[in-house]
Amino acid sequence: MTLKGTNQESGRPYNRRTVLEAIRLHGPIARGDIAKRVGLTVQTVSYIIRELELEGLVVGARELPKGRGVPPTFLKINPDGGYAIGVHVTPVGVRAALINLAGEVIARRERRLRQMKPERALGEIKRLVTELRKLRRRGRLLGVGLAMPGPFDVESMSFVGPTTLEGWKGFPVRERLAKLTGLPAFIEIDMAAAALGERLYGAGRNLHEFYYLYFGLGLGGCLVHEGVLLRGAFGNAGELGHLPLVPDGEACPCGNRGCLERYLSLEALERRSASVGFDGWVAEAAPLLRAALVTIENLFDPETVVIGGPVEEPVLARLLEAAEPLAHSVSERRERKKPRITRSVVGRDAVLRGAAALAVSGVLSPRHGSLFGPDAVNGAFNRVQPATEAA
Ligand SMILES: [Zn+2]
Repeated sequence: MTLKGTNQESGRPYNRRTVLEAIRLHGPIARGDIAKRVGLTVQTVSYIIRELELEGLVVGARELPKGRGVPPTFLKINPDGGYAIGVHVTPVGVRAALINLAGEVIARRERRLRQMKPERALGEIKRLVTELRKLRRRGRLLGVGLAMPGPFDVESMSFVGPTTLEGWKGFPVRERLAKLTGLPAFIEIDMAAAALGERLYGAGRNLHEFYYLYFGLGLGGCLVHEGVLLRGAFGNAGELGHLPLVPDGEACPCGNRGCLERYLSLEALERRSASVGFDGWVAEAAPLLRAALVTIENLFDPETVVIGGPVEEPVLARLLEAAEPLAHSVSERRERKKPRITRSVVGRDAVLRGAAALAVSGVLSPRHGSLFGPDAVNGAFNRVQPATEAA
């Protein structure tokens, strides 16, 4: 899962990224092991590490000597080497968190807003960012990553309906955010930010190929292959919620009928619970989760499906229980060891931690893809508008 370096002089920024990624994924790790993993000479690796240490991004520690000779230094990411702020904007409010370089949450803030017009939300985000920065006055704040419902730039689906930010069409979110906060700013679809959070800090660390199923106000998902999020040609792959799985079902704002997220999402939970109660909703939604799982498995044959996002743990537990026994699919193998569907390890923080990682990688390795995998982070929106001019 580690990227390989290049021994050409022009590859220096790229090598820096691969070394940093190897340390993040495998640290504490010795120089020699990094060199082996990234395919560079120990001298080249040592040179890059000296740079990273001087910048405070990486720290080394010697182990106590066990036998003869000098014990090697083990390198790891310096958690306090920098910070980023992750923000999640939804139709019901704003959440934000201050996150360190190791991806740990230092503090969280949440505001429910009744009115989510862009300027109003941005004003609230500015207040939250100011509040959070005060917690690490002397720390190096790298940037802010904002996650919001997708898809982007799709005429019939973007900014339409209760699971999206209505009225945000054409609003220059990234530019306004950079200007308001004075920080490099990055934006991403919330589903993809959460998938990234899970890949970096959760179940995804030990999986080669998994499908991340995002259960938020809407429903989305994404295949993560060797650490990279597969996003499609225009960055909008993952609108699982608009699979029309119920023939002649409920009308959806996208223009179709019977879309999955009309039944299986937090929006559906709230709407349907009001009339049929929580248990009634579970009974309605569980068969659709079963159908969604079969669809995902037969399309992608992943090692496992990881389900998570803003949904509360007990709701998810109840739903998964009701979805048993699972229906037949290509994933039904006698020798399989992992469960077919598992709950997220990162939980509700996945979006915020993924959004912050977006900012970290965008700043520390601009123009060279993501720090955490080739274009794993920067979705279509950030690629169109390169990171470097944000300040
Ligand atoms: Zn739809």
